[in-house]
Amino acid sequence: MYHHIKKLMYTVNVATPDPRFGNMLLEQFGGANGELAAAMQYSIQGLNTTDPGLKDLLMDIGTEELSHLEVIGTLARMHLKPLKTDREAAERDPLIAICGGGGVNLYNSEGNAWTADYLKITGEPEVDLRSNIAAEARAKIVYERLINFCDDPGSKEALQFLMTREITHMKAFMLALDSLGRPALSIGKLEPSPGIVDQFFNDSTGKGDDGEVDMRGPWNKGGDWEFVSNPAFTTVRDAETGERESDAPSLPNVEAASKAAASDSHSSKQKRK
Ligand code: MN
Ligand code: MN
Repeated sequence: MYHHIKKLMYTVNVATPDPRFGNMLLEQFGGANGELAAAMQYSIQGLNTTDPGLKDLLMDIGTEELSHLEVIGTLARMHLKPLKTDREAAERDPLIAICGGGGVNLYNSEGNAWTADYLKITGEPEVDLRSNIAAEARAKIVYERLINFCDDPGSKEALQFLMTREITHMKAFMLALDSLGRPALSIGKLEPSPGIVDQFFNDSTGKGDDGEVDMRGPWNKGGDWEFVSNPAFTTVRDAETGERESDAPSLPNVEAASKAAASDSHSSKQKRK
């Protein structure tokens, strides 16, 4: 059940309306990383989950995002106000001025309609929480860029508040992910195929015109990593058996792997609890 209170979550003051800035603000209203996308992603994930703790978290933050939508919409509307009466301002965004009468609508700054394709909802908490952490990181950086392009102190203050809340949400989602108690690479139920999972394919090789070379770091060196050089260049030694000269990844036996995972599902369920 939703309930509206006739107050903004954060009071918005605009000294000098800036229609061009108002247009950029629409990214956070009807854009891919905007407040409606966040509100819908979390609320619908919450609707889908049966875990009471996760549902409560998703509904709390999803509802706060709706309050952010109201703040950013109010802020954008104040900056877009000149589009109602000023011909020159109206020319900057006819979609808002002529179709929308100077008000906000669910478009991004380029006039693209909001779409459910912005949402990432898989029904797996260890996947959805990661999507949410990334969504909060994107929202944070969009607010930061808006702040950097903003001259109005009151607008900056409101944007700073909204940006801060995204870090708060990010923290909550990260701790919720930790609380699942799953190893970082444990996604879903099926185990990845051993051996091949630790192979790093050096698929980009050679020397680039700007001096780009192969780089080694913790992402492909040390630990369990097996560095596979030039996997695409390995030649097939035996055409009939497909036996390769070197370094070829051995293809996993998918059927055997899924049977092993199925017989293992009882113990892995216990592990997850
Ligand atoms: Mn938000
Ligand atoms: Mn957020």
